[in-house]
This record gives sequence, structure tokens and C-alpha cells, in this order.
Amino acid sequence: MKRGMCPGTFDPVTSGHLDIIERAATLFDELVVAVALSPDKGGGPLFSIDERCAFIEQATEHLPHVSVRPFDTLLMDFAAEVGATAIIKGLRAVTDFEREFQMAQLNYRISTEIETMFIMAIPEYMYLSSSAVKEIARHGGPIEGLVPLHVHDALEERLAGSRLGRT
Ligand code: ADP
Repeated sequence: MKRGMCPGTFDPVTSGHLDIIERAATLFDELVVAVALSPDKGGGPLFSIDERCAFIEQATEHLPHVSVRPFDTLLMDFAAEVGATAIIKGLRAVTDFEREFQMAQLNYRISTEIETMFIMAIPEYMYLSSSAVKEIARHGGPIEGLVPLHVHDALEERLAGSRLGRT
């Protein structure tokens, strides 16, 4: 039984994340999507941990061997706790490389039992990030295709108030 783990903040999950999750899911018997609480990232997440998990659960309904778990501990501890033997991360443009390489090295120091693996982003999603989607949505721009439909609707709803409040 091979269990992998895809960690991230997923605020909110994008089509780029889902592409990595779906491709990683073909490599493992079980895949755990680990959603970090990340209270401090980018001034605090837009969506609560429960909302972020629910978005991914809905988007991965068709993948019965994919589960979603929140966590607020050291990633390697959480991976060991759920019995994952590999951490799978998506790599976008070169800008991701430096940060991911550093994290992979540090995590390897913590545990040599858990391997970090990378899946290359497809060109279509190479420059897609949750923060870019939020920025576009905040200004009323088109985000169709960048996030699943239910996330699209949740973003519209969440950000409508802030747009109305603008002078
Ligand atoms: P972000 O960097 O968008 O805030 P996360 O911290 O949630 O996202 O990222 C979780 C993982 O998903 C990271 O390994 C990140 O590199 C990867 N990822 C994010 N966006 C994409 C994308 N568009 N294509 C491939 N991988 C991605």
C-alpha cells in the first residue's frame, strides 16, 4: 500500500493544484491532500481551513482514493502520522524551484524515510497561483477555467462585498 501526500495552503484550490493532485493520484494507492492552516501566509487566508478542505473534497469526489486532511504541525510529522512515504509537490516556473529545493532539503534532514517528489506544471497552469486568482477576482476579472465552478462561485460571493465597499 503506497500512500502519498500533496501539501499546500490551497486558498483556494486552483485548476493547477487539481492537475497535480489528479496526476499524483495515479501514482499511489492512496493520496492525502494535506491542507495547512497557514494563519500567517499572505496576510491570512481568505477561506477558512474547513472551507478550503470542502472545496478540494468536492473537486476530488470522482477520486475515491483521495482524501483531504487539515494539519497545523510540521509537515514531516504529519506525513509520518498518516503513513505517507512521499510528498508530492507541483513545480511551476523557475521561481518555485529555489523555495521548493530548500524545503525539500530541510525536510530530508528531518526524515530520510519520506521522499519529496515533483510533478511539473503543465504550460496552461504554469503561471497560475491562488494569489493571482484572488487578485483577478478581487477586481472583477474573469477566473473561469482557473478554478472549479464551486470555487469560482465562492470567490465571487466572498469578494463581492469588498468590491461593493470600494470607492
Ligand atoms: P500557492 O503557491 O498557489 O499559494 P500552495 O501553497 O497551496 O499554493 O501550493 C501547494 C503546491 O501546489 C505547491 O507545491 C505548489 O508549487 C503547487 N502548485 C500551486 N499552483 C500550481 C500550478 N498552477 N501548477 C502546478 N502546481 C502548482
